[in-house]
Amino acid sequence: MHPLLDLFYPALCPVCLRGVDALHTLCDDCLRRLPRTEHHILRENKIEMLFNDINRPRKQWYKPRFVRGGAWLHYDDHVAQVIHTGKFFEQPEVDMLLGRQAATEWLDSGFFEGIDLLVPVPIHPNRLRERGYNQSEFVCRGLAEVLHLPIDTTTLLRVRDTPKQSQLTDAERITNVEHAFHIPVPTPWHNRHILLVDDVITTGATVRNCIKEITPIRTCQISVFSLSTAR
Ligand SMILES: [Zn+2]
Repeated sequence: MHPLLDLFYPALCPVCLRGVDALHTLCDDCLRRLPRTEHHILRENKIEMLFNDINRPRKQWYKPRFVRGGAWLHYDDHVAQVIHTGKFFEQPEVDMLLGRQAATEWLDSGFFEGIDLLVPVPIHPNRLRERGYNQSEFVCRGLAEVLHLPIDTTTLLRVRDTPKQSQLTDAERITNVEHAFHIPVPTPWHNRHILLVDDVITTGATVRNCIKEITPIRTCQISVFSLSTAR
C-alpha cells in the first residue's frame, strides 16, 4: 500500500479483515489457526520423503544433491483461503507476509543454514503476463526479509507453458511438467546451495522436474521449501 494511504486506512488482517496493530500482518487468531507441519524439526518429513531418492545411487565422493526439505503448513481450507483468495488485498502482499512469518518461525531450527540463494519455482512468461506476478517469488521476498539471502529469478527458467497442475490427475501431473524447465549454460550455481521455493507442493512433480534440471550441476546442492503441502 502507498504510505499516504496508510494514514487513512487502518491496518487489517488480510484474511478476516479485523483490525491489527501493524500493517502487513495476520491477526493473532488467523495466525494461530494456520496448521503447522513442524517439518523443520522432523527429518524424513513428507517433503524429504518425496525427494530423498535423488541422492540414490550415491557415489561416496559426491556431496548429497538433495539436502533437506519442508513445508510450513498443511494445505487445508483455511490455508487455501489465505493463499489463494486475495479478496481485498493484493495477493503478493499476503504471499510475502506468509514467507516472512515462516522464516521467522523456522529461523532458529537451522533449516535455512548453509543456503546461498533463494530460487522460486518459475512460471511461464505467458502466465506471468496473465497473472502479473509469480506467487513463489513473493514467498521468496518474504523469506529474504528475514534470511537476508539473494533471490535468483533468471537462472532457472520455465520454457514450456503447461496446463495448471491443479486441474490434472496425479499421473497427468508427472508428464505435464516434463522438460518444462531449463537452465542456461554456463550456470552460476557451481558450489552453491540453493533453496527451491514453491507455494503448494502436492505430488512434487513440478519441483522434481526443476531438480532434474539442476542435478547435472554436480557441485550444486538443493533444498526445498514450500509454504504448504497437501496432506
Ligand atoms: Zn485474521
